[in-house]
Amino acid sequence: MVFSRRPVHMTESFPMARRKKIYEGKAKILYEGPEPGTMVQYFKDDATANNAEKRDVIDGKGVLNNRLSEFFMVGLNAIGVPTHFLKRLNMREQLVRQCDIIPLEVIVRNFAAGTMAKRLGIEEGTPLPRPIVEYCYKDDKLGDPLVTEEHIAAFGWASQQDMDDILSLALRVNDFMSGLMYGVGIKLVDFKIEVGRVYDGDFQRLIVADEISPDSCRLWDMETGRKLDKDVFRRDLGDLADAYTEVARRLGVMPANATPMEKPKLIN
Ligand code: 5GP
Repeated sequence: MVFSRRPVHMTESFPMARRKKIYEGKAKILYEGPEPGTMVQYFKDDATANNAEKRDVIDGKGVLNNRLSEFFMVGLNAIGVPTHFLKRLNMREQLVRQCDIIPLEVIVRNFAAGTMAKRLGIEEGTPLPRPIVEYCYKDDKLGDPLVTEEHIAAFGWASQQDMDDILSLALRVNDFMSGLMYGVGIKLVDFKIEVGRVYDGDFQRLIVADEISPDSCRLWDMETGRKLDKDVFRRDLGDLADAYTEVARRLGVMPANATPMEKPKLIN
């Protein structure tokens, strides 16, 4: 699929200059949303690896990740796994619920790969006896170090109740994503999610936040073993946009199938 590179302001639903930027990360920007308690999440084309030591701009990556993350989060919401996703606004942006991000990367692994394969000397692709959940402390300067529940409790990053809820969310996301991928001939090797806290009156609850996309999952073709995720970029294995387009195509999530965007409204 060929994506043209247009000036960013031409793809926006409302002018960037008037919006307040809340946070800019490596692959996304968060802006203040149109209503209290909402934010606009903008997906960039930037790709980084090895804690931003390797970086590039991959035309169309942001569009694909916006669509794919929408697809996964809509599905999760539909089966009762709460997420921050409210609505896709346009090709690169979605409206999300504002939440307090818990400073952990929650990783679920079904097969050994990446840092776990390296750390434990297990061959990549080895099936694990059961899904294994790991936690990393979100800190780019430290390279997101692996931490235990002891660290999390001692430093107050999350309570015991939070950890029970995070584990349950992570395993439900794993079941949903594994099944979805299995149906289109893709093995869900591992993935990372982030979890946020929202307040409903006196109550608080945890929801899946950030994004779920081939940037944050390992996806291998079941027959050929072809990698269809960010490892294509991390390990120089070919065209990243091609790999993500293949995932989108198999799932029936193509930018070309996008529902028509809302027509502009005249303001009196
Ligand atoms: P590993 O620890 O093997 O590098 O990564 C495990 C899984 O979590 C992989 O699917 C990887 O894509 C994802 N992951 C780990 N850290 C990050 C991160 O900082 N950003 C993103 N997008 N994904 C991550």
